Amino acid sequence: MTAPVIVWLRRDLRLADQPALYAAANAGPVIPVYVLDDDAAGDHAYGGASRWWLHHSLQNLSRSLTKFGSRVVLRRGDAVSELCKLAEETGAVTVHAIRHYEPWWRKAQGKLAKELDLQLHDGNYLMPPGAVTTGSGDPYKIFTPFSRSLLEFMPPRECRPKPETIQSPKSWPESDRLDDWHLLPTKPDWSGGIAEFWEVGEEAAQMRLEEWSRGVKDYEAARNLPSQDGSSRLSPHLHLGEISPAQVWHRLDGQQNKGWQTFARELIWRDYAQNVICQFPSYARASYRAGFETVWRDPTNDPQAAADLVAWQRGKTGYPIVDAGMRQLWKTGWMHNRVRMIAASFLIKHLLIDWRYGERWFWDCLVDADFANNAVNWQWVAGTGVDSNMFVRIMAPLSQSEKFDAAGYIRTYVPELADFPASPIHDPPDEIRRGYPSKIIGHREARERALAAYQVAKDNA
Ligand SMILES: Cc1cc2nc3c(=O)[nH]c(=O)nc-3n(C[C@H](O)[C@H](O)[C@H](O)COP(=O)(O)OP(=O)(O)OC[C@H]3O[C@@H](n4cnc5c(N)ncnc54)[C@H](O)[C@@H]3O)c2cc1C
Repeated sequence: MTAPVIVWLRRDLRLADQPALYAAANAGPVIPVYVLDDDAAGDHAYGGASRWWLHHSLQNLSRSLTKFGSRVVLRRGDAVSELCKLAEETGAVTVHAIRHYEPWWRKAQGKLAKELDLQLHDGNYLMPPGAVTTGSGDPYKIFTPFSRSLLEFMPPRECRPKPETIQSPKSWPESDRLDDWHLLPTKPDWSGGIAEFWEVGEEAAQMRLEEWSRGVKDYEAARNLPSQDGSSRLSPHLHLGEISPAQVWHRLDGQQNKGWQTFARELIWRDYAQNVICQFPSYARASYRAGFETVWRDPTNDPQAAADLVAWQRGKTGYPIVDAGMRQLWKTGWMHNRVRMIAASFLIKHLLIDWRYGERWFWDCLVDADFANNAVNWQWVAGTGVDSNMFVRIMAPLSQSEKFDAAGYIRTYVPELADFPASPIHDPPDEIRRGYPSKIIGHREARERALAAYQVAKDNA
């Protein structure tokens, strides 16, 4: 029997269009392995909601592999050491893996390539990050030219089918038990709302895509309306690689409608974000632009800022659209994109709290928490990033709520306002708030404070 080959799984928990698994299955007996390596990612080890998703996704993948007589071997610790140990135990010399771009994975890939025959495959982006460059070969910093250039390469590569067979090794190496990783919350178990909202796994992702192939035509009109189910909700599936963007593209490509064109542009944002992280690996940890330090109020030594941060996290700011979003996040592990922008802008500009506090909170609470997408969007809203400085664009939550018809959304997530009629629900007068908190700061006051703080920072620059 030929030596087994290892498939190193990370954010690619699927059988179809999984180029690493496909190549391994053609090469010999396969040992699929997932290593839970919390240390490598440091402060970006998976947060609570992501751990919940990971548990169920691994469980699903394992179930699917059983049909091939295969399984996922689970190991915990430093990924490179664990893979080397596994190779020694099994006689494997080759590791197939989809190339990952988070700074800690790039480092681990470099180290592993020195120890074993590491075969890296592209598979998680429309184009390999770094491959779309300007005429002079430089990476793009700005979205629009990046997007235009990437579109010239579309459609993406052909999708690989599921392997027809997956040969097992002579004997299976030892594996941890998934339950022993304690990825699910217990005391308290806060995951009920998430479990109700989502179906996890490759099959669920494919079903969602099928449904979405009928819904995408309305995307242009519906995507900004939080009260409607107007976006794909593919983000956690894409994040953990239960479906590939190439599969999504090929399923929808050919639809002759504006919805698909706009949706394709959003998918490209995902590639763009990774392209930014490849250029600036610290993007999730530091503002790209200097000079904002004096703008922020510091929750570690300003009790009012600390209280404001908690009110934002708990959905108690007194702004219904912001609070509905933050409560949706807490309950379901996801927030509508338009509301993410409003809630993020509120933290940064109304409350003058550093975007990194928001990034951290989202990292812990989102089932789609993604190193690149999260950081790039937070810096985009803050105006601290590589693209235009948006700090002075201060979103008005109350008019956004009216404009995007968020009454139904607010009724769903803010029970205190559940029986409010449409008009006052966006900004309920204090005397009829019925236990719903008053605004922690007035919009005009907040706007003036933010602009003044920004002016001081500019003058000091
Ligand atoms: C402050 C803030 C933080 C965010 N954090 C994340 C995050 O951690 N993970 C994440 O996947 N998205 C993040 N987003 C982007 C966006 O809100 C989500 O991708 C989207 O809401 C997911 O829902 P959907 O799958 O229905 O999206 P759809 O509108 O159906 O879009 C399809 C896919 O395109 C990609 N996409 C869409 N919008 C963006 C975007 N602005 N940037 C990057 N990719 C995009 C996603 O993979 C998404 O699943 C963030 C946005 C903001 C404003």
